[in-house]
Amino acid sequence: MIRALWFILKLAVVIAIAIWLIERPGTVSVNWLGYAIETSFTVALLIGLAALGIAALGYRLIRAILRTPGRVRRHSRARKRERGYRALTQGMVAVAAGDAPTARKMARKADGLLNEPPLTMLLSAQAAQLQGDERAAKEYFTAMLDRPETAFLGLRGLLTQAIKAGDRVEALQLARKARALQPNTPWLLGTLYDLEARSGDWAAAEGTLQQAIQAGAIPTEDGRRHRTVLLLERSFESERRGRSDSALSHAQSAHDLMPGFVPAAARLARLQVAAGKPKAAAKVVERTWRLSPHPDLADAYREVLNGYDPLTRVKLFEKLLNQAPKHVESHIALARIALEAQLWGEARDHLNRALAIEPSRRLYRLFAELERSERQDEAAARDWMAKAAAAPADPAWTCDPCNAVSHAWGGLCGHCGAFDSLDWKAPTLAPSLMEPGDAPVALAKPSAA
Ligand SMILES: [Zn+2]
Repeated sequence: MIRALWFILKLAVVIAIAIWLIERPGTVSVNWLGYAIETSFTVALLIGLAALGIAALGYRLIRAILRTPGRVRRHSRARKRERGYRALTQGMVAVAAGDAPTARKMARKADGLLNEPPLTMLLSAQAAQLQGDERAAKEYFTAMLDRPETAFLGLRGLLTQAIKAGDRVEALQLARKARALQPNTPWLLGTLYDLEARSGDWAAAEGTLQQAIQAGAIPTEDGRRHRTVLLLERSFESERRGRSDSALSHAQSAHDLMPGFVPAAARLARLQVAAGKPKAAAKVVERTWRLSPHPDLADAYREVLNGYDPLTRVKLFEKLLNQAPKHVESHIALARIALEAQLWGEARDHLNRALAIEPSRRLYRLFAELERSERQDEAAARDWMAKAAAAPADPAWTCDPCNAVSHAWGGLCGHCGAFDSLDWKAPTLAPSLMEPGDAPVALAKPSAA
């Protein structure tokens, strides 16, 4: 409706102008180069307008012709970029799919088509790694260090390579450089903490661990245990340096942080005995026994009670048993101390009670020992030893990642160097497959009597 009105209005204006011009006739004459043209003003006006229109058209045509090469250039550049990004995408997909030849081909193609070194260098490095060409990958990662926008990615690549190659010194340096660039990156804090701990830099590891927990890289509960282990290692270090006060205070902090952690309680108790505080030591062991009865704690308790005669020790060990009266470890601990005191009846009683709860290789060996000591019954002892040989392996301090068994607890695995990796569990590997000296507790220690 509005369009129709608008059209009628325009038509009216044109008609009005036409009428206005017809009502005012006049002539225009041109004398030029011997030609004489005479026409009405209206026709001259129309010719003039047509000439203007033709000139405008010609101008646009010439401009379009002049601009063509630039347009062609721009178009081909856009196409090149588009092909470059397509190659980059295909390369990334190939990396994700583990297709090394395509990844490398696409990396080269993208590199030729795109002027974006940060993007293509990373793809080239990943493609090289996929093909197992670590040296080429290292060159790309190193080249990435020159640009601020890729330096962190380059460091990450080099760090991963160093860890894979087992070069912990290099890895630690790279991780520290990376932290200087991006101090709050969770994965980096977790990695750096692990590297510092493995290298025995306990104080630095403690600081990084705190940051890693805050950044969410390590769960709070795991962090608490790691910190306990770090404190224990600091305690060992202080002792090696002859600083018994600080050795004791670190062990105390570790025990306070995790009262149920056996290595902390056992260590604290031993240091307290050495410092002339056997009563405090006994309390520490009893407190932890209630939470997690363990043979290492029984050993520590025996050291605490070293000054007493065997019969009194049996009496005092009953205090330990009262902390966890239904636990198999309580009865084994009592049986062993009774065997030492030659209280055969009491020893047999606790061994039988332990057997009713959970038979084990360790228990069969103690039965054999009892038969030999009490009755000199070699045949019965042999029967028990045969049972022991057929029984599953006893739990021991076993490294989670490498499965190696340590005869004593430590912060670092003596086999693979992992930090805080020892758990009290039955090893899954046959002892013959392990390093010498890594035999399980029950085999390495002559029943620790
Ligand atoms: Zn290990």
